[in-house]
Amino acid sequence: MKEAFERPPTTPVSHDPNIPRTRLAPSPTGALHLGNARTFLINWALARQFDWQILLRIDDLDGPRVKAGADRQAIDDLAWLGIDWDDGPVYESACLPAYREAIDRLWTGHEIYACACTRAEIELASAPHAGDHELRYPGTCREARQTSGPSDAGDPDCGSPPELAPSDRCWRLHCPRGLATFEDQLLGRQECDVQEQVGDFVVLTKAGLPSYQLATVVDDRLHGITDIVRGDDLVDSTFRQLLIRERLGYDNSLRYWHLPIVVGEDGRRLAKRHGDSRISHYRELGVPPQRVLGLLRSWCGGERRPCEIDWFRESFQIASLPRERVTMTVADHHWLLGIR
Ligand code: GLU
Repeated sequence: MKEAFERPPTTPVSHDPNIPRTRLAPSPTGALHLGNARTFLINWALARQFDWQILLRIDDLDGPRVKAGADRQAIDDLAWLGIDWDDGPVYESACLPAYREAIDRLWTGHEIYACACTRAEIELASAPHAGDHELRYPGTCREARQTSGPSDAGDPDCGSPPELAPSDRCWRLHCPRGLATFEDQLLGRQECDVQEQVGDFVVLTKAGLPSYQLATVVDDRLHGITDIVRGDDLVDSTFRQLLIRERLGYDNSLRYWHLPIVVGEDGRRLAKRHGDSRISHYRELGVPPQRVLGLLRSWCGGERRPCEIDWFRESFQIASLPRERVTMTVADHHWLLGIR
C-alpha cells in the first residue's frame, strides 16, 4: 500500500511494456460512493487475477468542480477497502506538457478548429436530442471557416495556434459522419455515430484545459495503459476517445471493459439525490469494510455476506457479473447498517 504523500509525483515509475497495465482514475470532484467503489473494486480484482499492473491516476483537470482534499479522501477510501496499486498517484494536472504536445499535433494536422459559440447559441441552433442531456454541436464555426491550422496563418482568428490558457474560444475535433464500432470485452460490439450524437466535440476548453476526452487519451498512452475498466456510462466517451487516438496516430490496441453501473431506484446514476452513499459516510457510522465489501460482492453476482478483500479477489468471477445495471435500494443501505 502506498504511504501518505505530500507532493504528487509528476511521472509514474517506468514499467515493463510487456506487462498489461490498468488504471484506477478517481475524479476529485466528489467523494467515492458505493457505485464507483464497486467499479474500482472490480477493476482491482481483475488486475490482480490477471497480473496487470495498476496505476492510480487522479483526474483533477475539471477546474472549478475539483474539491480540495477530495483526492486524499479517495485515496483513503480505496485503502480502507483494501484496494492497492503499484504505481502513482499521478495527477493529470502534472501532465500539461503532454497535452500541449497533443493539441499542437492535432492543430498542425488540421484536425481541430476554434469555436467561439456560447452554450446559449448552441442550444438555439441544435435540435433537442432524444434521451440524452448532451447538446449536439451543429458545426457552426466549422462551416464558417472550413479548416484552421498553419495554412490559415493569415487569418488572425483561426491562424493562431491554441494556447493552454483561458480564451473566448474552445477547440473542437472534426468528427466524421457514420457509424463507428468497437468490441467491448464485456458488452460485446458497440456502435455509435459521434457526429450524429454530439457533433464536433471539445478537446480544449475555453478555460484553456484539455477536455476529459483528450486528457484521458493522452494519459492512457503516456502511462502505457492496455486495459480500461470503467462504468458503462462512459461507452459513448470511448467512441470519442477512439477518434482522438486515431487522429493522434496512436494504435488501436486498448481493451475496454465497460461495467454496468449502479443506479438509484429511479434508474439514474447513483448520486446525492439517492441519499448519502459515500464510503466515508459508512466509515463514520462505524460500518466495517468487510460489510461494505459484502454488499459490493452481492452486486457482482456473489452471495451477500461480509467478506475480506482477499476473499473478494479470489472469489470474484467476471463471468458472474450481472449484465444489467444494479439498483441500490433502501434495503441495501439498511443491510450495511445492520438494520433488518
Ligand atoms: N475519472 C473518471 C470518473 O471518475 C474515469 C475516467 C475513465 O475511466 O476514463 O468517472
